[in-house]
Amino acid sequence: MTPIRFITGNMESKYFHINKEVEALHMLLKGKMQESICVDPDLALFYGPKVLMAKNQIIVSERFLNFLWAFIYFAFTYQEKANELLTKNSQATVLPMTSPELKSALELLKYAKQLTRGAFLPWPNGIISPGFNGSPSNDVEDFALKTNGLFSTATTCFFLHELAHVYLDHREEAQLQADLKARMMKDPRFEATQGMVAPIIASETAADNFTIDYLIRQYDDDKIKLNNAYGVICAYVSLTFSVRSLGGMKQIFHPNLHDRVLRVVQRIDESGLKESGYFAHFASQTLMLLLDQAGVALASYDAGRDEYAFLLQVMEEIDKRI
Ligand SMILES: [Zn+2]
Repeated sequence: MTPIRFITGNMESKYFHINKEVEALHMLLKGKMQESICVDPDLALFYGPKVLMAKNQIIVSERFLNFLWAFIYFAFTYQEKANELLTKNSQATVLPMTSPELKSALELLKYAKQLTRGAFLPWPNGIISPGFNGSPSNDVEDFALKTNGLFSTATTCFFLHELAHVYLDHREEAQLQADLKARMMKDPRFEATQGMVAPIIASETAADNFTIDYLIRQYDDDKIKLNNAYGVICAYVSLTFSVRSLGGMKQIFHPNLHDRVLRVVQRIDESGLKESGYFAHFASQTLMLLLDQAGVALASYDAGRDEYAFLLQVMEEIDKRI
C-alpha cells in the first residue's frame, strides 16, 4: 500500500461534494456513472484518470496519484517560498533551496519524475508524505496538509473532466479515437490528419471547459474561487510534468498540454477572480522549470512585468521546441 491510500477517501468525498452544482450533477447521473473511483493498484502502470466508456467507470493508477501529490507539494512549496522571498526582496532572482520545506520539495520533484518512468520506487525515506495528519508543528507539515487539500481539488478536476465525457456523450469521439489508434498500431506510417482528430480535440476542450466552469463559478466568493483555481491549475500543470520531455507536450488526441494550461489561466481570469494574475505567474514559473531542464534559460521574471505577457512568452518558447 502506498501512502496516497491514506487520503483517497477524502479525494472521493470532494469529488462528490465540492459544491451544490456538482452534487446535483452526481444525482442526475446516479445509476449511470459508477459511484466510486477505481484506483488501479498495479504499481508497474502509470496513467492518469480516464473513463471506461463501456462501463462509465473512472479509473486511475495509484502510481499517478502518488506522482500528483509529490508534484503538488513541490509546486506549492516552491511557489509560496519564491513569493515570500520576492515580498521581502523584490530584486531577488535566485531562490535558495536550503530550507527544510524546499529540500523536501526538491526530493519530491525528483520522486515525482521517477514515477513517470521505469520501475516503481517506494516513497523516499524520511520525506513528508500524504500520510501525515494531525496538527502541524512546522512548515513542512503545514504545507503537507495544504497539499492534501490541493490534491483532492486537482483529482476532482480530473474526475469531472472524465464525467463530462459521459455527461456530454462523447461516445462517438471515443470510438473515433480507438479506431485511429488501431490504424496507427497496424501501420506505423499512418498519421492522423488534423481534420481526422478535430472532433476528438473539440470533445476534450468541451470536457475541460465544463470542468473549469463547475469548479470556478462566477458567483462564488473569491476565497472559494481562489482555493478551487489553485487546485485546478495544479492539475493542468502537473500534466506537463508527467511527460518525459518537452516534446511530450505535443499531443495527438488532446490539445497540447501547455495550451490546456493557458486556457485554464484564461478562464480563471474570466471568472472575475481578483488575484487571477497569480495563476498566470504560477503557470509561467513552473513551466519555466521545464524549459530550464531542456537547456532554455529565459530572462528571469521580475515583479514589474505583466504576468500574462510573460506566460505567453513562455508558451511561445515551448511551441518553438516541440
Ligand atoms: Zn478527456
